[in-house]
This record gives sequence, structure tokens and C-alpha cells, in this order.
Amino acid sequence: MMENKEELARIITAENGKPLKEAQGEIVYSASFLEWFAEEARRIYGDVIPAPAKDRRVLVLKQPVGVAAIITPWNFPSAMITRKVGAALAAGCTVVVKPAEDTPLSALALGELANQAGIPAGVYNVVPCSRQQTAAVGEVLCTDPLVSKISFTGSTATGKILLKHAAGTVKRVSMELGGHAPFIVFDSANVDRAVAGALASKYRNSGQTCVCTNRFLVQKGIHDEFVEKFAKAIEKELHVGNGFDAKTTQGPLINEKAVEKVEKHIKDAVSQGASIVTGGKRHSLGKNFFEPTLLSNVTTKMLCTQEETFGPLAPVIKFETEAEAVAIANAANVGLAGYFYSQDPAQIWRVAEQLEVGMVGVNEGIISSVECPFGGVKESGLGREGSKYGIDEYLEIKYVCLGGL
Ligand code: NAP
Repeated sequence: MMENKEELARIITAENGKPLKEAQGEIVYSASFLEWFAEEARRIYGDVIPAPAKDRRVLVLKQPVGVAAIITPWNFPSAMITRKVGAALAAGCTVVVKPAEDTPLSALALGELANQAGIPAGVYNVVPCSRQQTAAVGEVLCTDPLVSKISFTGSTATGKILLKHAAGTVKRVSMELGGHAPFIVFDSANVDRAVAGALASKYRNSGQTCVCTNRFLVQKGIHDEFVEKFAKAIEKELHVGNGFDAKTTQGPLINEKAVEKVEKHIKDAVSQGASIVTGGKRHSLGKNFFEPTLLSNVTTKMLCTQEETFGPLAPVIKFETEAEAVAIANAANVGLAGYFYSQDPAQIWRVAEQLEVGMVGVNEGIISSVECPFGGVKESGLGREGSKYGIDEYLEIKYVCLGGL
């Protein structure tokens, strides 16, 4: 098993470039879903409901929804699969997985492990395909009457296409879509802790996770100190390079398109008055490597504060009041994760309740774990994965009325 873990981590680094240490972390995270849901399978309880008539008994059964089609992205090539497949298999469903074109190897390796573990043939199926075929394969999966459930993780734009396809046969859907996470640092925050959280939340996987911070909002009183310390931490602690080198913390971005998007966001921000504090350009290593970048003097008018960058760019907006920060944070059509740093208990309650997101990190920059419900509100998606709630996405509730007793 240890050997498998190491091999799986190396496959991830080879196919998406993330540093080996992060890939090893992903494998542990990925395996945790299989372990968790194997245990949850034992707790799929039904119900006995007090009947409304003397001669009746009322039961509630939970049954698998049926075949689940699972479409996953490249940024967590293993964990995004097991987070869905673990729950689906535990519920009693079979699955057809379509992995991202950039990262099919982890999905296939999991198939080999499923064989070794004795999962019967036909239960875990993988359909890798070229990007040219993706739309057609996606349409078949989402329209075929044999498929009862679509579970998708990826961009909001693709999620909307799949939702339209799924409507034709009224399939059950789970959608884990894009984010635009705010990270608010209030005057009351412990700045050093906020900097450590910012570094982790922004630059994990080179900024390519759906819960990565996309915009920093920093209160006037501590703004300059935060920006200065954040820049120092970026320059000292982040090392761009080959994911297989032990020193590397920042691998390459997934493809040229991703690099172009980061460049476009920086160019737009600078043209509107933002300042580059550190980074700002392609890395001297070339190809898809990009310098971890920090921008200050950012406004809400800039592209980088309006859409997901999905790269190593940290834009900082200065604000004056709590109400202003919450309004900026909530002025988005998506709401996946949100973070804030404060040491004021009343403020912590107020802001945690007001943020329009599915997940809130208070004085924490990394919050995902198998025990906790993962998912978003607004156009960030439908449903929750992981936790005790995740298995419900793959279960139908059937009510049975026993009459004439
Ligand atoms: P994407 O373009 O939507 O791709 C995700 C998956 O959907 C890939 O397997 C892709 O296949 C497939 N796909 C694309 N177009 C399709 C279509 N018309 N029909 C069927 N399948 C289709 O997303 P991405 O840009 O690669 O991934 C990053 C996005 O995922 C970001 O927005 C991020 O926030 C989001 N994300 C969300 C979560 C979450 O849990 N909420 C987690 C991770 C990532 P190809 O690779 O062949 O194009």
C-alpha cells in the first residue's frame, strides 16, 4: 500500500506538475474519502415514522440512485475522483468517470487499484477522452437514460452546460463549480498569522484550487504592514521549479492558457493603477512557470477582482469599514470559500454569518478535510461532498406504506 501511495503521488506530479510533497498530501486526502465513506456505508439508516392511521406502518428506505456519471478536473486528479466515487460506491451505485484531458493517469491508476482491491468489473469505469471529444462524451453521459446521476467538479461555465443536458431526463445533479474566495484581514487580526494563512490559501497548487483566495481585502490600519510582510514571505518561502525537486513549492501552471490568463489579469490591473509589489511576470524557467505575484492598490473594477484567476496572483484591495469589506466580498455571482482574520469575537460571528459562501475559514487559510461538508452557494454549485452529508447525494429516499394491518 505504501508503494502504491508513493507511485500515485509521482503520477500526480508527472501529470499536473504540482510539487511532490503536495501530491503526497493529495494522496492522503484522496484515500481519506474511500476510508470515510466505507465507514459511512454502515450508517445508511432508514426510518420508521409514526403512521397517521392505526392500520398502517410507515417505513423510509434509502436506496442507491443508480449509475453515476462523474466528470472531474485536473487540479486534484485523484482526490476529486475519490470524493465522489467513495460516496457513490458506499451508497451502492456504479460509476463512469470522465477525467480531465490533462490528467487521465490518476483515474486509470485508481482503476488498477480497484481491480487489486477486488471491486467487481463494471463498478468503477473510466472513459478518458481527448478535449475534441469532451463535449460529445459529456453530452452522452448527461443525456443517457441509463445514467441517473451527474456529479461534476469544474468551471461554472461547464457546469451550466451539463445542467442543461441533465434537465432532459431530470437527473440528480451535484455541481462543485468555480470560486472567487475573499480573504479579509481586519485591523484586529494577528498580522503574522494572517500572512501565514494568506500564503497557504493563495499559493497552494500555484493558486490553482477552487478554494484558493482570489482577492485580499485588508483594512486600512494594518494594510501596509500586511502587504510588506506578505511580500517578504512570498520572496522567502516560495520556490518555483520542477515538482520533483524537494525545494520546489510552486510547480508550473497547467497549460499556456492558464499562464495567459494570469498575465492578462496583471496587465489589466496595472493599466488601471495597481502596483506590482513582487513577481508580475513569467518565470525565467520559461514554459508554464510563473512568478508568485502580489499586487497592491487594487480596486473592484479590475478583472482580477471580478473573476477567478486560477493562478499565483494575489491582488490586495484596501478597505475602511467592516460593512464595506462584507459588501465587496459578497458582490460576486459565486460563493464557494471565504476567509477572514479577526480577533474580535463579535466581529467573528457577524462576518461568518454574513459571508455568502458555503465554507468559511476564520483565522485559518486551509479548511478542506474529509469530515467537513465541501460545497458552495450561488453559482458555485449544488450539493455537498465529503462529511456525513456527502453520501446523500447518491441516495434516493423511498417511502413504503404498509396498509390494511
Ligand atoms: P472545466 O473546463 O470545466 O473542466 C472540468 C472537467 O469538465 C474536465 O474533465 C473537462 O474535460 C470537462 N469538460 C469541459 N467541457 C465539458 C463539456 N462541454 N462537457 C463535458 N465535460 C466537459 O474546468 P477547468 O477550468 O479545467 O478546472 C478549473 C475549474 O474547476 C475552476 O473554475 C475551479 O474553481 C473549478 N473547481 C471546482 C472545485 C469545487 O470543488 N468546487 C474543485 C476543483 C476545481 P477536458 O479536460 O477534456 O476539457
